[in-house]
Amino acid sequence: MVNKEKEYETYPLYLGLSGLTFALLTVLVVVLMYVLWPGLHQLSYTLAVTVEIFLAFIIGIGWFLWAMLGIATKGWLRIHPIILRISNRVIYSLFPISLLLGKFGGVTKDRLRQSMIDLINHLVTLNLYKVPADRILLLTPHCLQESSCVHKVTGDVYNCKQCGRCKVGDLLQITKDYGCKFLVATGGTLARLKVKEVRPKAIVAIACERDLASGMADVFPIPVIGVLNARPNGPCCNTTVDADRVREVVELLVDKDSHERN
Ligand code: SF4
Repeated sequence: MVNKEKEYETYPLYLGLSGLTFALLTVLVVVLMYVLWPGLHQLSYTLAVTVEIFLAFIIGIGWFLWAMLGIATKGWLRIHPIILRISNRVIYSLFPISLLLGKFGGVTKDRLRQSMIDLINHLVTLNLYKVPADRILLLTPHCLQESSCVHKVTGDVYNCKQCGRCKVGDLLQITKDYGCKFLVATGGTLARLKVKEVRPKAIVAIACERDLASGMADVFPIPVIGVLNARPNGPCCNTTVDADRVREVVELLVDKDSHERN
């Protein structure tokens, strides 16, 4: 069993910087309200009050969504998945500001993305439910396949001959062992389309920080556990992944009563 707290320990960074971002936006909106008030008041008292209430409402909603995410990470309350999804989307849309603030403390883009991935993984494991193996989707980018391999695995992973030259074979073995689904996608857009098509109940996504962060935010709250790939040959070329880690994650998710091993 994975030690959840240790495994996803960087998530407070993303949550903290998002909170700082909201604090900064709150200050800016308060200044804006202060500046706008005299002019609007001259036009119409009702208009002035309406605008001020509207701005306060926007900020209030922002804080509410951030607090929901914070409460969910502590496991104090079971927050509705739709609220979590909206919270995650809103906070992710502020990622550039959070990154800018983080840079003052030496936080890199990849570190912040990793923290965001950890946050989603942490939420998923907190609300972990077991799903039938055939509703688990293993999703990986095409760059995991050895570039000289002639077998077209993007259409059908079962075309892989499991020759051992890349990790596609190992992941296919996990797929066979557990009876889950496995897709090798040629890009983020296709991956998102495939997720809609397959409608999995849980996804084990293997990708780089950038693709994981944006993809996980897109499909959340479908439970996604992200596993970072390794790029010994540079980005997008003959990448690799810790197959044991992927197996461990599948093991975590799978409902053993509902699957039959081959
Ligand atoms: S493991 Fe499969 S995908 Fe990888 S090189 Fe061998 S046949 Fe090709």
